[in-house]
Amino acid sequence: MGAIEFREHDERLQAATRKLDGKVAKRRARVCPADATLLSEDGSCGVCGRRLTPPSVDLSTMTPQQRKTAIESGIVPPATEGLSEQEKKQAAFWQRYRAKHPDAQQAKPPKPTLTEKASKFFRTEVTVGPNGERIETQRLVEMSG
Ligand SMILES: [Zn+2]
Repeated sequence: MGAIEFREHDERLQAATRKLDGKVAKRRARVCPADATLLSEDGSCGVCGRRLTPPSVDLSTMTPQQRKTAIESGIVPPATEGLSEQEKKQAAFWQRYRAKHPDAQQAKPPKPTLTEKASKFFRTEVTVGPNGERIETQRLVEMSG
């Protein structure tokens, strides 16, 4: 499983995802068909007491970003029609993740990669070679303190 890759991919889109979370929450708000009362978070109606299972998610009306956000919110069953193979895997992953971590707003951001860590210790020195070519040299930054 490419779980680590997936988390890195997730981090890149987290900023955009956060903006969309509110919209998804509104989209999830449901109304009782009998008395038009807003259902509580668990899908039950405070007036007639009936409990409604969540409606299947309509992916056809979503932008790719909204699809992704919905999938990462764990509200898209992997069996939903219209999902690509990759999206099914992601939907299954996020449903499991949300089930295990109901309080988690987002997956923990991954630690910086080794390359990112290492890049802090290098600076690029650009010089011009004897034939006018550009030469980039990675130099170790001198540690002070
Ligand atoms: Zn009701």
